[in-house]
Amino acid sequence: MRLVSACLLGVNCRYDGASKLNENVLALSRKETLIPVCPEQLGGLPTPRLPSGIASGTGVDVIAGRSSVRNADGEDVTECFTTGAAEVLRLASMFDIQEAVLKQGSPSCGSGQTQCMENEGGSYLSHPAEGDGVTAALLKRNGVRVITEEDL
Ligand code: SF4
Repeated sequence: MRLVSACLLGVNCRYDGASKLNENVLALSRKETLIPVCPEQLGGLPTPRLPSGIASGTGVDVIAGRSSVRNADGEDVTECFTTGAAEVLRLASMFDIQEAVLKQGSPSCGSGQTQCMENEGGSYLSHPAEGDGVTAALLKRNGVRVITEEDL
């Protein structure tokens, strides 16, 4: 049994109200039990919502309280991201999950690649960045292995 980013299973939970259905993840769901989670929704954010990114550093820094998560209006949504990550970790503990398949490149779910948000002349713009998203970082810190859809 594994956790999986809900958008990879076709759930329309992304910031733009769409999914990122992945055929390999769908095929996996026919062979084993996958528990779909969307940490941004679990943290209380609406769908659709403004895109967000990590202000500086990575999800590790957000978990440690050294950085924040901002949306495209520059609003601080850190608490939603950390609450959602904690909820995913709680589910992982509840079901004794050893591994999660999370969406690459997301500020929540990305593993090794995430999304940052920079203030450029008063406008907040998101960019891909190296490092883990907030949920991926929290799961890894607590011993849950994280792979992405690209590893399947
Ligand atoms: Fe998908 Fe994760 Fe973003 Fe939710 S937070 S839409 S599960 S990548």
